[in-house]
Amino acid sequence: MKYTSPRGTRDLLPVESAIFRKTINKLLGIFNLFNYQELTTPIFESSGLFERAVGETTDIVEKEMYTFKDKGDRSITLRPEGTASIVRAYLEHLSEFQQQQVAKFTYVGPMFRYERPQTGRYRQFYQLGVEAIGSISPMLDVETMIMGIHALDSLGVKNAEIAINSVGCDVCRPVIKEQLKEFVGSIVGDLCPDCQNRYENNPLRILDCKNPKCQTYFMGMPSMSKALCKECNDHFICVLDQLDENNIQYVVDPNLVRGLDYYTKTVFEIRSMLLGAQNAICGGGRYDNLIAELGGRKTPAFGFAIGLDRLVMVLNQLSLQPATDLDIDVFCIGLENEAQNKVFQIMNVLRKNNIKCEYYFKRNSISDGIKQGLLFKAKFAIILGEEEIENKKITLKDLTTKRQNSYDSIEEVLKVIKG
Ligand code: AMP
Repeated sequence: MKYTSPRGTRDLLPVESAIFRKTINKLLGIFNLFNYQELTTPIFESSGLFERAVGETTDIVEKEMYTFKDKGDRSITLRPEGTASIVRAYLEHLSEFQQQQVAKFTYVGPMFRYERPQTGRYRQFYQLGVEAIGSISPMLDVETMIMGIHALDSLGVKNAEIAINSVGCDVCRPVIKEQLKEFVGSIVGDLCPDCQNRYENNPLRILDCKNPKCQTYFMGMPSMSKALCKECNDHFICVLDQLDENNIQYVVDPNLVRGLDYYTKTVFEIRSMLLGAQNAICGGGRYDNLIAELGGRKTPAFGFAIGLDRLVMVLNQLSLQPATDLDIDVFCIGLENEAQNKVFQIMNVLRKNNIKCEYYFKRNSISDGIKQGLLFKAKFAIILGEEEIENKKITLKDLTTKRQNSYDSIEEVLKVIKG
């Protein structure tokens, strides 16, 4: 029986894992400049948390959650997104953060959604997200989006586009929904089954339908922004003005609603034209009701998540992957017992000097050792054969130029290796 990774999952092999790690570290460095602190939550939670937070009629909750009963008969769900858990932790433990005008958290890790796998869409994927909890100021929306752009910019991704919209609030959302239902009412029978279902349960999500036939029916749909209440409209205009002030390019996409119910006012996506159908690298927005929904005081908040799988695809396409440093510096060969002991002492010194080395465990022959060193892409080989032991020398071979020299001490060898 040959096992493969489950459909929609993949192994991040060493090179890709290293690219992920470096990319994450770079982005966390940028988020730190904006005063975000890392918060790590479990990868599973009580199912009710996501049902409540993400919304019972969303695709995620209806069709995509990995939900199971644990041995204590509790309903558990592998997290499909990060925001609900951060808010849960904020309410559960972080009363000192609740005193602050804004509390900023960042998280990274795998998310799980039972979606139809395709390029850039997995059932286990990785997100690096941020949540800023506590401020209603449109400047928080602007700062967070600037941070997203700044983060991508720091990796060299300069051609991404921000799409932005406002989905309104408790006051104007019912009006928007009514207008939409009125418009769609006469054609609902011609729409795809998903849209028909959304028409009944979650009409705003109709806008998100990717079915080309449905899209043609939606031409001439009343613009959501016209139905925004004064507060949401002022907020939206302020956000757009401030993006202009900060020279951030964006497009207003009146059909952008996003797949999670908790959003209010601003929603946005950062898209890369280098990706195919799944072109969103980052998505997020404001969620002013979620904290109260989950049992806290009414507290406004803003957040986003970067999809790392897609971001790394873009980096690969632009040849912007960070250097992975998987090669070794020195391959160390000692054949006889005495040579082996000596080589181990030499390796201790090398590693204490931050030099990455590997030992020739096979101990067959020097020529085989050199071959192994080349497989590891080592820059140098240290060789202790019979002659070296007898003469108390250390041979250092440069595996690129193939030149070699013998030295009396490890200090001299270190000098050459360090260049
Ligand atoms: P969301 O949590 O749906 O707002 O998505 C935020 C970001 O996560 C998206 O812009 C994508 O980059 C990424 N993402 C969401 N779902 C998937 C998936 N199934 N596979 C890979 N990346 C995903």
